[in-house]
Amino acid sequence: MYGKKAVFTLAIAVMARAADFNGAEALAFTRRLVAFGPRPSGSDAIHKTQAYIIAELKAMGCQVIQDDFTGSTPLGPTAMKNIIARFPGKSGRMVAITGHYDTKSMPGTYFVGANDGGSSAGFLLEMAKVLTHAAHQDEIVLVWFDGEEAVAQWSDYDSLYGSRHLAEKWAADGTLARITALINVDMIGDRDLDILKDMNSSEPLRELVWRVADRLGYGKHFLRYEGSVEDDHIPFLRRGVNAVDLIDLDYGPHNSFWHTDQDTVDKISAESLQIVGRVVVETLKELERDDGTAGRDHHRG
Ligand SMILES: [Zn+2]
Repeated sequence: MYGKKAVFTLAIAVMARAADFNGAEALAFTRRLVAFGPRPSGSDAIHKTQAYIIAELKAMGCQVIQDDFTGSTPLGPTAMKNIIARFPGKSGRMVAITGHYDTKSMPGTYFVGANDGGSSAGFLLEMAKVLTHAAHQDEIVLVWFDGEEAVAQWSDYDSLYGSRHLAEKWAADGTLARITALINVDMIGDRDLDILKDMNSSEPLRELVWRVADRLGYGKHFLRYEGSVEDDHIPFLRRGVNAVDLIDLDYGPHNSFWHTDQDTVDKISAESLQIVGRVVVETLKELERDDGTAGRDHHRG
């Protein structure tokens, strides 16, 4: 027989489980994305990928915004789409968690980007599930960027199409001013997880993430080794947004899985996705707890 107390305890237990970031689920989402094959911007496969992401979000009851735009690429204008899931808050402040879902176009190679493009997109779907189970002080938005990859040769004009577009749009409509933190994830599924200490990222926010990782016992995966990465956080950093990039740029022996047909699902793990997921969820709590001032550079005004 179940008394009232037993039922109540059971409900709490179920809620606690639902609110946890589940790496196995993130990997399952990634697997489904990879099954669409190579997913470069403008391809049939990326259109199927978009429909899949949007259908999953709507099934979770998320508010979805489709941000359609045209990328001016060296191969001509290309229709692209950022996908945004909104989780309303009360404070007026906003935190963004972002990552890309396109894969690099590599003619002649069957490049499915399990880690590069797949892991970030699958991670964000699991994050959406976590966020639907809790109320928030701050508005939280998840963004799936299109067009992160260069079409020809990486440059300021041939890369980061989705993030450049959204940073410009959010600057114009006033959204950027409400963002207390932007956390971008990329290539976070590697079984051998080494998150690079990106020196382009905002220092106080990066230090906050590294502190949280240490506290959760994941310090060895968040490197002391420094590098400078150009990724989807850059267009926001350039406009004064507090932003950090969580990326593992050491993928396979001598980075040999990166941008090759070796970037397949067997090279990534649920554990790595879960580590990054738990660190990001805990960082969100810290940001809310401190009224959005945690991880902010007070000197930047
Ligand atoms: Zn890439």
